[in-house]
Amino acid sequence: MRAKLKALFRLAVATDDEAVQAADGLWTTRCLHCRTRLQVAADGEALGGSSLEHVVPQAWFGRRAAADLTAQVGEDRDDARNLAVACRRCNQDKGKGPDAAGPQDARAHAVVAALLAKRLTRWRPLPDRSTH
Ligand SMILES: [Zn+2]
Repeated sequence: MRAKLKALFRLAVATDDEAVQAADGLWTTRCLHCRTRLQVAADGEALGGSSLEHVVPQAWFGRRAAADLTAQVGEDRDDARNLAVACRRCNQDKGKGPDAAGPQDARAHAVVAALLAKRLTRWRPLPDRSTH
C-alpha cells in the first residue's frame, strides 16, 4: 500500500473518537456508514474490508454546489475531518450513488452532509505524539 494512503489511514483513526488502539498498535474502529467493526494496522495498512472514505467526495472539491460542505473541512480533500474508515462495500456504494450523482443533486448533497455531520461528531483532536 502506498505510503501516502497509509498516512491518511493513520490520520483518520487518530482523529476518530471511536477508534481504539491496542497495546500492539492495532486500531479498531467502526465503519462511518454501517458501524461494522474495522481494523487498521499501526502503520496505517488497511486490514480486512477497511477502506479510506473521503466523506466529501474528492471530485466535489471546487464545485460551487458543494462549497458549504468543503468549507467544513477547510477546502482540503485530505483534511483529517474529511477522512474516515469505511467498509469497502459501503464506500463503493457511496461512490456509485451520491458521489456520482454530484453535489447539485439535492438527495446526494443531503446524504453527504449527513455523513459529514456524523464524521464531525466523531472528531477528536490529533494527539501531539502522532504529529512527530
Ligand atoms: Zn460499512
